[in-house]
Amino acid sequence: MNTDGKGPDRGGSTRYLARVTPEFEQGPIRPPSEAQSLLVRVVRNCPWNKCAFCPVYKRRKPSSRPTEDVLADIDGMAAAADEIRRSAGGVGRGDDALAGFRRARRDGAVPGEAAQVALFRAAGGRSAFLQDADPCAVPAAKLAEIVRRVRERFPGLERVTTYARASTLAKRSAEDLRMVAEAGLSRVHVGLETGSDEVLARVKKGTTAAQQIDAGRKALGAGFELCFYVMPGLGGRDGSGEHVRGTAEVIRAVAGAAPAERPLVVRLRTTAVAPGVPLWEEHEAGRFELPDDVETAREIRALLEAVRDSRLLLVSDHSLNLLPELEGELPGDAERLVGVVDEFLALPEDERAAFALGRRIGAYWTLADRGDPGRRAVVERAAESLGARTTQEILAAAAELRSRYV
Ligand code: SF4
Repeated sequence: MNTDGKGPDRGGSTRYLARVTPEFEQGPIRPPSEAQSLLVRVVRNCPWNKCAFCPVYKRRKPSSRPTEDVLADIDGMAAAADEIRRSAGGVGRGDDALAGFRRARRDGAVPGEAAQVALFRAAGGRSAFLQDADPCAVPAAKLAEIVRRVRERFPGLERVTTYARASTLAKRSAEDLRMVAEAGLSRVHVGLETGSDEVLARVKKGTTAAQQIDAGRKALGAGFELCFYVMPGLGGRDGSGEHVRGTAEVIRAVAGAAPAERPLVVRLRTTAVAPGVPLWEEHEAGRFELPDDVETAREIRALLEAVRDSRLLLVSDHSLNLLPELEGELPGDAERLVGVVDEFLALPEDERAAFALGRRIGAYWTLADRGDPGRRAVVERAAESLGARTTQEILAAAAELRSRYV
């Protein structure tokens, strides 16, 4: 129902009536696994904002949002979800949710950002994600109140998750973290990137390996599921070995502290360097050389070997990754996972380069896709249109495309 009581204008005009449900804020990013989550913006932007590889919040000021604004947003999302369900004839799940949103939007009944609420409902309404970069930096009582409100308004949620900086978690008391976990925050996504102090300093991550280990153990001890994002390639060509050594050390130290029912999750997010970020300037000045896809695959293999005895889940769900097949459980799947990398590395040079390009243009997903003549033709045409003829030129074209995914 519209607030002016006139009902929607269905005469083909684009003149919309007053909205029924309120607007709410959403931040720019979430992890790939949270693409269909309800997005709740607790803080704006990133309070650190200095990581040399990160383009997301540069030149944007960080701020903490008043609790009442965040709670009002959650209420607004719940109202939008009701409106979407009503517009979908009372169902509001699966494709019906998307159709319900389109109808409600056309009638001026929900704001544009309710599209995410529709995606969330379409996927079954199971997860919520707290934004932006570091919601755990706000007082624990405030965060707990926000989490409780999300759980109250959306009782079907199976998980509530957030990004958290390792340095922030390390500073939090065990009691504070437990309070937030008991309120219903179930998972923290931590941008580990690397466990090497040398590489951490080089990319200005603002944390140390010791803090990462402390943060990881504390998060697990509080009862959270813990995801570490690791960035293959971040050490550059010269620092690859050190990157692997330090990262494996942190992973082993934290994985060993995880309870059986909540193993550490390691998610790969291959390094790409976007124009404009500080690491790009280093790259342009020749002080940082980004490993190509073949070198990155070798690095991942070395990391796998270094952590193969740890108990963890490996996930490769980022579009920047060359090998999405690198998913499994260590130590049981170690042989198979190393085998996936070896299968790629054993390809003739020109085939490896073509696969890298095929991944970047979306023609290939798995290594087996190379056997599809239609997909191969798409890759060949792409190489031609990019003017890439030699193996090195094709690999370079794939690397160039990688930087555009950031
Ligand atoms: S802490 Fe995260 S969001 Fe902030 S600059 Fe670093 S990578 Fe970007």
